[in-house]
Amino acid sequence: MRQRLSIEDYTTGILAGDRIMLSQAITVTESRLPADKELAAAILKEILPHSGNAFRIGITGVPGVGKSTFIESFGNYLTSEGMRVAVLAVDPSSQKSKGSILGDKTRMEKLAHNPMAYIRPSANGLFLGGIAKSTREIMLLCEAAGYDIILIETVGVGQSETLVKSITDFFLLLMLAGAGDELQGIKKGIMEMADAIAINKADGDNVMAVNHAISAYQNALHLFPKSESGFLTKVLPCSALMENGMDIIWALIQEYEQVTRANGFFHQNRQKQNINWMHDQIREALDDLFYGDPKVKTKLQELEHSVKEGKELPGSAAQDLLDVFLTK
Ligand code: GDP
Repeated sequence: MRQRLSIEDYTTGILAGDRIMLSQAITVTESRLPADKELAAAILKEILPHSGNAFRIGITGVPGVGKSTFIESFGNYLTSEGMRVAVLAVDPSSQKSKGSILGDKTRMEKLAHNPMAYIRPSANGLFLGGIAKSTREIMLLCEAAGYDIILIETVGVGQSETLVKSITDFFLLLMLAGAGDELQGIKKGIMEMADAIAINKADGDNVMAVNHAISAYQNALHLFPKSESGFLTKVLPCSALMENGMDIIWALIQEYEQVTRANGFFHQNRQKQNINWMHDQIREALDDLFYGDPKVKTKLQELEHSVKEGKELPGSAAQDLLDVFLTK
């Protein structure tokens, strides 16, 4: 049983950087209980003025590319430079596997024990919409708790990277040398989303292959339309395992931040993200209202049956349901 705390207990704790309080507040934001939803909204309102100051980085790549190893190395590099780092995961696939990509903290053992870092495994059993909402909120809570950098890990195989792109300032794609794009399951769209591509495992016998891959990807990127950010996507080598290249990647991210702050993109992008967030919230609230309506619930089963049996067209069934919902 979670102890009932007041809004003030949570906010004071979070703003003081209390990790236990932060974790508990995150649990509240992930909860579906109506009382928790209210509490979460109140906490968020209080901490909102203290959020927004972190740099938000999305990290994607297919399983096995080295995301966890990279975050372990990069996270520890950033903390050694004096930054506080929070690591989150967007992992809709965990619904199926019942496991989370960050669930097993031993994959980031050093970082998990680093007092300057905070790792939050993704919640299980949420749909993408729910994940979007909770990840945004968790990000704000971490920012209010004083984390300078938010790293959001996602598996590069679905809609989840579009989501992560839509809530971060910088999107890093990890890839491998020597495997065709198709082999890596990376769609062109994901490459287009990337602000930088890091070719991982540039160590040992693999260094030559990585250099070839860098030229190949750099050439491929020339064919893409120019990014809205005004920043040219770069391809860099790194070895997460050997902790090589972390400083160069960080320097590139800093350059990106400077360029996009100077040309206004950084600010405009955050504004656009907030507007999208508002629309997402509206959609979600309407969804809850509609499907939670007792009249809709009663009629829904009957109409689903009619549609299934081909007795009614989906469009007219939808209209019937909307009529039921809208009639007072
Ligand atoms: P993820 O599935 O993308 O999170 O990948 P992991 O971080 O779990 O790494 C998958 C495997 O690749 C593990 O066995 C790692 O030790 C290995 N690996 C990760 N980064 C590197 C690297 O830079 N060089 C080499 N040689 N192996 C790496």
